[in-house]
Amino acid sequence: MSDEGAVQVCVRVRPPNDREKSLQGGSADGPPIHWKADSQTISQISGTRSFNFDRVFHAKETTATLYNEVAHSIVRSITQGYNGTIFAYGQTSSGKTYTMMGNAVAPGLIPLAICNLFSVINDTPNREFLLRASYVEIYNESVSDLLAGPKRRPLEVREDVNRTVYVAGLAEELAVTYEDVMKLVRKGEKNRHYGETKLNQHSSRSHTIFRVIVESRDKTNEAVMVAHLNLIDLAGSERASQTGTEGVRLKEGCFINRSLFVLGQVIKKLSDGQAGVFLNYRDSKLTRILQNSLGGNARTLIICTITPVGFEETLSTLQFASTAK
Ligand code: ADP
Ligand code: MG
Repeated sequence: MSDEGAVQVCVRVRPPNDREKSLQGGSADGPPIHWKADSQTISQISGTRSFNFDRVFHAKETTATLYNEVAHSIVRSITQGYNGTIFAYGQTSSGKTYTMMGNAVAPGLIPLAICNLFSVINDTPNREFLLRASYVEIYNESVSDLLAGPKRRPLEVREDVNRTVYVAGLAEELAVTYEDVMKLVRKGEKNRHYGETKLNQHSSRSHTIFRVIVESRDKTNEAVMVAHLNLIDLAGSERASQTGTEGVRLKEGCFINRSLFVLGQVIKKLSDGQAGVFLNYRDSKLTRILQNSLGGNARTLIICTITPVGFEETLSTLQFASTAK
């Protein structure tokens, strides 16, 4: 796949879990599979809908393959001063966190990217690097600092005189080694799950942005570059009507639907590449915080995760994915 193009959209299909395997309704009494995929297309099995993407990753393909094929070049551009953002989009339990964070057996894009970032840095002896990281959570349009401990307070998003958007009071922790960065990731994860129960799965209702700020200086001419790598686990994209039609669930669902809608609009305009179109970054906290990271020479990758058996939710994810490209 080429390195060109500011916005890349990929789909990842996860393997069926035990519950899905035991579902009936498909052919030969198997689970009802509605979609078939090849390396760039997903199509409806009994129907006419078909969608093309930069790449479709099958259930058997690993996160490491995904990293090497579509994420690696973004990390490399970070060390050359270009901003990069990687999103995981999809309904709850489709594999967003598995893809971004992974586990001990299958590390996700975050540990793979950080590890790779340090190896590229070691291979760039003519520059001196300084790394910082921040970890933000957006829940119901309220922004908080995941590195600040369990008693988090809402933070304001502001713009300075240079039109740089920042989160006021957000910690940016220095990191010198891979392990330093991973400690911050784990600290943030712990805070993200603080107070969470099965009934109150706050983490699937919030967006998180793990940001690595890579500053570097040319050892001969002192020229300084700063680039942001944003690694984003989005809130579950299921429709508000599915998660609850009352109270807290409805409110969460509306905020999520709205912010994902705005994200889709911004990405679509960026990938259409029309100069001078109005980009409505201010319509959600998510796009507002990312305002300086998207657009220009920045690189954006959206990984849309889908399950093998869902029809409606998969369709809605594929529709989002195809608007974005
Ligand atoms: P989400 O973050 O989208 O809600 P998760 O990443 O938590 O979903 O995935 C739900 C479950 O499916 C987890 O138990 C996860 O380990 C498993 N899973 C997701 N994607 C894959 C995959 N590609 N291969 C194997 N297991 C996966
Ligand atoms: Mg998750």
